[in-house]
Amino acid sequence: MTPFTTEKYIERSRKALADSRLQGALSSVQSRLGPATQRMYGRQPEGPGIRQQAHAIRRRAIDNLDLLLEELADRVTENGGQVFFARDGAEAVAYCLDVAKEHGVRSVVKGKSMVTEEVGLNPALESEGIMVTETDLGEYIIQLAGEKPSHIIAPAIHKTREQVGQLFAEKLGIDYTEDPAALTQAARAALREAFLTADMGITGCNLACAQTGHITTVSNEGNIRMSSTLPKVHVAFMGMERVVATLTDHDILFRLLSTGAAAQKLGGYVSYVGGPGPAGFPDGPEAFHLIVIDNGRSRILADPAFREMLCCIRCSACLNVCPVYGKIGGHAYGSPYSGPVGAVVTPLLAGFNRAADLCRGETLCGACKQACPIDIDLPRMLRELRFRLAEGDAVWDTVPVSRPEKAAMEAFSWLTTHPAVFRAALSAASRLQSLAGSSRDSLHRLPGPLAGWTRSRDLRRISRQPFRSRWKQLKPSDRGETGV
Ligand code: SF4
Repeated sequence: MTPFTTEKYIERSRKALADSRLQGALSSVQSRLGPATQRMYGRQPEGPGIRQQAHAIRRRAIDNLDLLLEELADRVTENGGQVFFARDGAEAVAYCLDVAKEHGVRSVVKGKSMVTEEVGLNPALESEGIMVTETDLGEYIIQLAGEKPSHIIAPAIHKTREQVGQLFAEKLGIDYTEDPAALTQAARAALREAFLTADMGITGCNLACAQTGHITTVSNEGNIRMSSTLPKVHVAFMGMERVVATLTDHDILFRLLSTGAAAQKLGGYVSYVGGPGPAGFPDGPEAFHLIVIDNGRSRILADPAFREMLCCIRCSACLNVCPVYGKIGGHAYGSPYSGPVGAVVTPLLAGFNRAADLCRGETLCGACKQACPIDIDLPRMLRELRFRLAEGDAVWDTVPVSRPEKAAMEAFSWLTTHPAVFRAALSAASRLQSLAGSSRDSLHRLPGPLAGWTRSRDLRRISRQPFRSRWKQLKPSDRGETGV
């Protein structure tokens, strides 16, 4: 089952814009986390250049991915674990189902993992009669509600306390309450039972280290540690790009992950997992499987314009500053990955044409690059995606998305490179705009195909006197000319 429903982006965005409760929740998370994360970058011992340092580390790892994955697999195998390389989501899910069958698994506890959302794991397990319990509180809430995550690290950010109170009263049979502590206790009691009876634990992997052969998981609730140590089988899903070379590289990225995700110095619970528990040891699983997933990442790796996207550590810092995400929320994107990172990675995974609206919907304001702990140039890749969508691209099976738009842009380009014609066109447009009415400074409604621009914003009127002629009329001193 495909997890992508990107075709409804515009429809869902309109709905989200009219949802005042959602607007309030998004504004609250962005105003809290966005500025706090920026302040934290400046306090790292490496100084403000740490983001560029992290970028270089990730880039080195991605450029040596084949070697590092081999090294990681060797170390995990030496430690008694098993590694499976899945070409796509279907192979990853099938392998997990085989492991579940082999161990007679009837119930699973899961730590939050976006890559398992990407491959559609939960429905596949449930269709085999296996009970799946999400154990991250936010994921648990949306699982009970039958919804999808709307934020990479805060999946239930769109839900209010009142909505969670009603949900828990209905699904867990408790008295209605809006008290966060009481709601958390209710979830804790329900989840405790699931942890103690589960046959298999499934987690994602925040980072993996080739040198040591371990994967790292981070949570603030301790649920991932319990998912990976209490059941007799632990299966970890990992996007193939998540590996780094050394423990030193790992340390820097790992700190930045917590800072980018929640403006923290370090996540509350950190686990390094390298294999099953030692024989006779009371803690840890008897079997450990690491599923390394490609699912389109090799194609991204092969394209120099998009390879940088594999440096992403899915921290969600870019979501917390994005003006578009801040208005439409995560569900509008129709992908496990929302916000600016989703607007780039979703077309790369789901297809450019299918997810065209996502990258065309971003503002290119650059806030995501400033916020990213890895200094990933998302705006550049958004522009590249738009270029390929305009031109078509055989390698990515992409057909030009809008020929009239392309023709209009070519005409505009020609106009701006022919000054005399440009000036005449501006002068004509300045006279014609009076026919459009609206206010003294702005046009509220444009005609025909231009109407989309003014549907949600105004267009400034073209000045009757162009800038160049105003500039010429200024005195040299007002132009900042010193006369030296
Ligand atoms: S693009 Fe950067 S900020 Fe956004 S999720 Fe990835 S690493 Fe985090």
